[in-house]
Amino acid sequence: MPFTHLGLSDPLLRGVLASGYTTPTEIQCEAIPAALTGQDIIGCAQTGTGKTAAFVLPILSRIFRDEPVPGQKRAIRSLILTPTRELAVQIERCIVNYGRYVGVRSLAIYGGVEIRKQLETLRRGVDIVVATPGRLMDHMRRGSIDFKAVEVLVLDEADRMFDMGFIDDVYRIIRTLPEQRQTLLFSATMPPEVRQLAAGVQKNPQTIQIGRQHNPIETITQHVHAVLRQQKIDLLLHMLQNRPMQSVLVFSRTKHGADKIHRKLEQAGIVSVALHSGRSQAQRQHALDGFKKGKYQVMVATDIAARGIDVRGISHVVNFDVPLYARDYIHRIGRTGRAFHEGDAITLVAPDEQEYLRKIEQFIGQRFRPEEYEGFTSAHLTESLSRSEEQTRSQRLAARARKAARRPRLTRRRSRLAAAR
Ligand code: AMP
Repeated sequence: MPFTHLGLSDPLLRGVLASGYTTPTEIQCEAIPAALTGQDIIGCAQTGTGKTAAFVLPILSRIFRDEPVPGQKRAIRSLILTPTRELAVQIERCIVNYGRYVGVRSLAIYGGVEIRKQLETLRRGVDIVVATPGRLMDHMRRGSIDFKAVEVLVLDEADRMFDMGFIDDVYRIIRTLPEQRQTLLFSATMPPEVRQLAAGVQKNPQTIQIGRQHNPIETITQHVHAVLRQQKIDLLLHMLQNRPMQSVLVFSRTKHGADKIHRKLEQAGIVSVALHSGRSQAQRQHALDGFKKGKYQVMVATDIAARGIDVRGISHVVNFDVPLYARDYIHRIGRTGRAFHEGDAITLVAPDEQEYLRKIEQFIGQRFRPEEYEGFTSAHLTESLSRSEEQTRSQRLAARARKAARRPRLTRRRSRLAAAR
């Protein structure tokens, strides 16, 4: 279906074309016509499917259906809530891009930067606010934001709002919005708490499910390499030095780990940058922009910082650490293989991480076959696998020994108790 059949106005179609899009993605084909009717929507789509345009375009269409009254201050007609600062910036940029021919005024509200500029822009008047919950609450407490005119609310990456502990703020914010509104909820996964949120804040939503839930998108090839923890950095360097890996996003579980990997890469002459919440907002934005422009071959990031970021053409995602939560695996690897492009997701598994890998397998309903990395000696693989088996065996034996050691003590205690009675 071409974009022209989705019911969008001419200036919006021109904005879409100018953004380089020729064909709508599946979620856009489904969600745009439905959202244009004004109904509530639950969009259950994996990352990288083009969901931002799926909600931004109908919002723009709604706002610019009516000509703005000259001289009248603009009121916030749409609020988009999103879990991270980077996502807020990214979505706001999409609004500017798609809405370039309709003269939209938008603002991204997020923490870590001075509030003054945000206050000024709010005073001048904006049509759309994209916000992270924490900083938006600050504005609400100051009385610097007015939601009376909000017609459309978007909850983006709803599952992540729960994971990041924002949900109470989200509920508080929603309670201050007009009852009469359209609510669009997007989430990569649909755990019970997200369904409950939808049930509480939406009216007869239409559910749009793109792809099978939990199933990594088809354009991503997944590889798993078993390796000893202390050899992970060598394997990563080996990959980067021996394979064409153009734009690589490496995930580390911790900030400290991310900095360490970044340092090792730099020492080896690989141009890289680190992105995590321990860095200032300016540093984070600088890292992200540099990575987007191709200034850095590698960006090493933690889950929170990299959440939802949209960098075109990430060729490889490397899970340096196996994510502890299966859901994070989907989110991480979804940074590659975006919108019609292909990508590789590589996971390095140390013996003590096998149980997390199993959880991921259960979650996505797929079994991995850890492979040897070509040119990186097989001894590592065999050693690490047999180590892991050995470890599980010794863990079992240790557990049994602990149980046995507890038994006589319990018996002794019981006889003491009997004697006391
Ligand atoms: P999203 O899932 O919204 O983060 O989008 C993922 C990527 O797909 C972004 O780089 C978008 O710019 C891009 N994209 C969205 N819609 C289209 C489209 N119809 N054609 C080509 N690229 C698109």
